Amino acid sequence: MAVTRTFSIIKPDATRRNLTGAITKMLEEAGLRVVASKRIQMTQEQAEGFYAVHKERPFFNDLVSFMISGPVVVQVLEGEDAVKANRDVMGATNPADAAEGTIRKTFAESIEANSAHGSDSEENAAIEIAYFFKPEEIVG
Ligand code: ADP
Ligand code: MG
Repeated sequence: MAVTRTFSIIKPDATRRNLTGAITKMLEEAGLRVVASKRIQMTQEQAEGFYAVHKERPFFNDLVSFMISGPVVVQVLEGEDAVKANRDVMGATNPADAAEGTIRKTFAESIEANSAHGSDSEENAAIEIAYFFKPEEIVG
């Protein structure tokens, strides 16, 4: 399995509770390396664009409001099969369904305020990384 990259967000429910370090530690312990990281306040336009695939879903407006309700930490992660490694340590979307030891089981408040985002494919990882980072901001 090759070393690849994925895109992660530590969501506002987690930054509000000062969990940036705790979540990053879990990512690192899962074999992922943070090769880019910045704390930002997303604009409404940025959040709507980022989640455009979900714009027909009933939770879209609430999701956008949540994602701009406080700062987030956007990260590029690198490691063996990074997309899968990140999805595995993140856990299921709904914390009620997430496995023990995962980020969402440990920290999520709800299906919406679920502490972390992780790309779902290498193709989307590349799109999402480019949405937030210039190539020179990523140092592997
Ligand atoms: P994931 O983040 O696990 O890839 P999705 O891509 O399906 O999940 O959804 C994107 C985000 O939208 C979720 O992480 C969560 O914050 C929110 N979300 C998903 N489903 C729901 C729902 N039924 N109600 C409220 N928010 C939801
Ligand atoms: Mg998703």
